[in-house]
Formats: sequence, C-alpha cells, structure tokens
Amino acid sequence: MNLVLFGAPGSGKGTQSAKLIDEFGLFHISTGEVLRDHIKRGTDLGKVAQEFISQGQLIPDELMISILDDVLEKDAKGKKGVIFDGFPRTIPQAEALKELLAKRGTELHAVVGLEVPEEELVERMLNRGKETGRADDNIDTIKKRLDVYHNQTSPLRDYYHNEGKYLPVNGSGVVDDIFNDIAKGLEKITGAPRK
Ligand code: AMP
Repeated sequence: MNLVLFGAPGSGKGTQSAKLIDEFGLFHISTGEVLRDHIKRGTDLGKVAQEFISQGQLIPDELMISILDDVLEKDAKGKKGVIFDGFPRTIPQAEALKELLAKRGTELHAVVGLEVPEEELVERMLNRGKETGRADDNIDTIKKRLDVYHNQTSPLRDYYHNEGKYLPVNGSGVVDDIFNDIAKGLEKITGAPRK
C-alpha cells in the first residue's frame, strides 16, 4: 500500500506517519526530513535547500523530484509500501509521483487529507518551534508557508478527489482519535489489514 499523508504545515503529518508506520508496517519518506538532514550534514544540496526553507518557499520541482527518485531507489526498495509525508506539494510533483511509482510497477492507493483550522495550525507550529527549535516555525515563515500551501499545494485536494483517492479526515483533536479515523478509512479503501 502506497499512501500520501496530505495537509497544511502543522496539520500533524509527521505525528500520524509515525503511528501509521507501526500499524501498517510501511516505509516513511518525509521530504522535509530528508532536506533537514542534508542541511545538518552541510551538503551542497543542504545549502540550496536552506535558502528556500528559511524563506518558507518550496524547493523547485525538478530538484525535489530527483531527490525523491533517489530515496525511492536507495532506501525504499523491497518495502511493502511507502507513506509519502510532505510530497507531493504541487501538481507537477503529483504527476511525477504517478510516473515514479508506475516505473516501479506500483501505484498510489490513497491520499489521507488532514484537515485542521488555520488558527490551530499556527498555534501548533509556534509550539513546535518553541519545543524543538525548528528554524522555520517562526511567525513570519509560518505565514509564508501557509500562503504557499494555499496557492501551490491545496489544489491537490481536488486533483486527488477527482482520482477517487482523497480521504478527508478531521485532523483537529486527540492524536489517537484522529489515527483511528485514518485507520478505519484506509481499511475501507485499500482492504489493507492492520498488523
Ligand atoms: P515539511 O517538514 O514537510 O513541513 O517541509 C519543510 C520545508 O521543506 C517546506 O517548507 C519546503 O521548503 C521544503 N519541502 C519539503 N517537502 C517539499 C516538497 N515536496 N517540495 C518542495 N519543498 C519541500
């Protein structure tokens, strides 16, 4: 089962991914984490990524897609399924994902959309910034990231809805309740058993 965890920044994609990995035994790819790891290691890619991330902007599609292709090739081979967290964020990325999966003889089964009111997103990111020191969780960058989400990423809801893959979930409230809604929805869509 290949799954996209979709939602605005701060919607709980990382938190719910961690639970899905345990429950369904999937391999997790967070493009944000991949980029932050490059920044930490001071690679050339990390230097490029830092410029965009600190401005709250997306890494250009072509670069992001080739990074993902690489991760799939090196780390995801032989896994029984992948959770994509933070990818795709644009329509061209969604088209590329379709091709990357088709090339490997598989496809995307479902897109879980975590829907959370904007005030709650801002509050969660400000708290995360305080707790983890994550550099782009400051109010100015948060506002830019939300703009980018509305302009470039939210059209993917309709895109996946039209493909019959979009599973909306109320992402506001208690972590375990949200997870149960996701798991129930996935069982219906994919027939994938929980462990
Ligand atoms: P995240 O951890 O998913 O919130 O991502 C943090 C930042 O990494 C984003 O604000 C973007 O600058 C960059 N990023 C992560 N995933 C992508 C992607 N799929 N396309 C472009 N930029 C991305």
